[in-house]
Amino acid sequence: MFADDLKRHGWTEIVDLWKYAKGDWKVHFDTSSWLIVETKSNPRVFDVHVPGDYESSWTVNLIEHLCQMEDERHRFREVLEKIRDDKTANPTTRSRAEEALEQCYHTWLVNLKVAEGQPGRVYCQICKQIKNQ
Ligand SMILES: [Zn+2]
Repeated sequence: MFADDLKRHGWTEIVDLWKYAKGDWKVHFDTSSWLIVETKSNPRVFDVHVPGDYESSWTVNLIEHLCQMEDERHRFREVLEKIRDDKTANPTTRSRAEEALEQCYHTWLVNLKVAEGQPGRVYCQICKQIKNQ
């Protein structure tokens, strides 16, 4: 069973029926068929299908892989931001950091605190860009 596989990998149930966490990583139901994978830096890393028994252990590995990649991306972007914003750094280096930060696949999320149709309603969790609607 999927919950047992999560526990075997060090996840703990933090909300009954159900939400599991491993450090800053969390997984919880979106719908009855889909799970939301969440990290400290990204509340919606990806949606993963609720696995059957055959894929259960593999799905735990997939969730952990997604969380590791997200943590790594966040860590690298933070370092690039520090280089970009460091006035004492080499201008070419700062420029390269800025170029790298501008490259983003965009993960669009809806900010429910912003009214529909208003700027900032849809934004990228990764680069903070606001989507034009
Ligand atoms: Zn983006």
